[in-house]
Amino acid sequence: MAGTLIDTFGRVHTDLRISVTDRCNFRCAYCMPEEGMDWVERSGILSYEEIERVARILVEEAGVRTIRLTGGEPTVRARLPLLVERLAALDIELSMTTNGATLALIANDLRDAGLDRVNISIDTLIPDRFLRLTKRNELARVLEGIDAAVAAGFDPVKLNVVPMRGINDDEIIEFLRFGRMKGVTVRFIEFMPLDAQSEWSNDRVVTASEILDAAAAEFDFAPISRGSSPAERFGFTDGSGEFGVIASVTQPFCEACDRIRLTADGQLRNCLFALGHTDVLTLLRSGATDADILDAIAAEVRKKWAGHSINQVHFIRPTKSMSQLGG
Ligand code: SAM
Ligand code: SF4
Repeated sequence: MAGTLIDTFGRVHTDLRISVTDRCNFRCAYCMPEEGMDWVERSGILSYEEIERVARILVEEAGVRTIRLTGGEPTVRARLPLLVERLAALDIELSMTTNGATLALIANDLRDAGLDRVNISIDTLIPDRFLRLTKRNELARVLEGIDAAVAAGFDPVKLNVVPMRGINDDEIIEFLRFGRMKGVTVRFIEFMPLDAQSEWSNDRVVTASEILDAAAAEFDFAPISRGSSPAERFGFTDGSGEFGVIASVTQPFCEACDRIRLTADGQLRNCLFALGHTDVLTLLRSGATDADILDAIAAEVRKKWAGHSINQVHFIRPTKSMSQLGG
């Protein structure tokens, strides 16, 4: 393949995350500030045509096989099913990560447009706590969104849960019960230092091993093969589904990372924690050919480091928050 996206450590990149907007209808404290976010001007956001062009180059010329739409909140971008339809025409598996608040309204349209999978982020099942964490009183609508996703035929539907010490770490069992009851896969993600308020600290991270200990107090489960997924997967031994744990902080999976990211303002980033990027938006708007764009992206991928160093003294927190990077 003309421009396989391979870095100097031999990792081949086939998974593209596209942030379709930096805006969001929630204000999750671990992700973006409640006030004072610097939104990118509309003209500085990639159009659907531009997103499709980059995606097509990377799928047809560079071996990208999976694309995930994210944000900010992808569903706040107008006419999202139109983008889904364009991307679904490529030979890929297409998924989306959403806070689920408006999913009940568009789940069927997204499914019809060709979206394959959906992950819904939800960090608490307690209404007051939900309001405190997201600054929005939307738990009921998110729960409707989960039901709508299942009803629309997305399979699997996954729930992303970030347990934080002293905040929601008492809900691990409740989430597992909920997942089993709804037939959806819960995935616990370790809290990462990408919160806009810089409130992250190591002791706030509920580690994968703590999560598994908590789960083992109520359920019997056994590991299942992980494949290329960053999640360690566990099947309930009574056969009622599975759950996952993503140990991004305590057991980073950088050596197997196959992801690259395109931000809403057209930055190609080779890692969630990358400190640099390639400005694809300027290339797109200055007459660059497909080959120029592919060369620039391939060069950015070659610069990828071995891995992030969250637990080391030389770790530098990226200046962008999770909502700007796409999770
Ligand atoms: N708005 C969508 C949502 O909430 O699913 C998509 C964007 S959000 C940035 C993507 C994912 O990042 C969510 O699952 C969210 O829980 C996760 N996330 C945000 N901040 C995080 C942090 N500091 N550590 C770990 N995960 C985080
Ligand atoms: Fe918005 Fe998702 Fe960030 Fe919450 S996690 S503020 S829903 S982008």
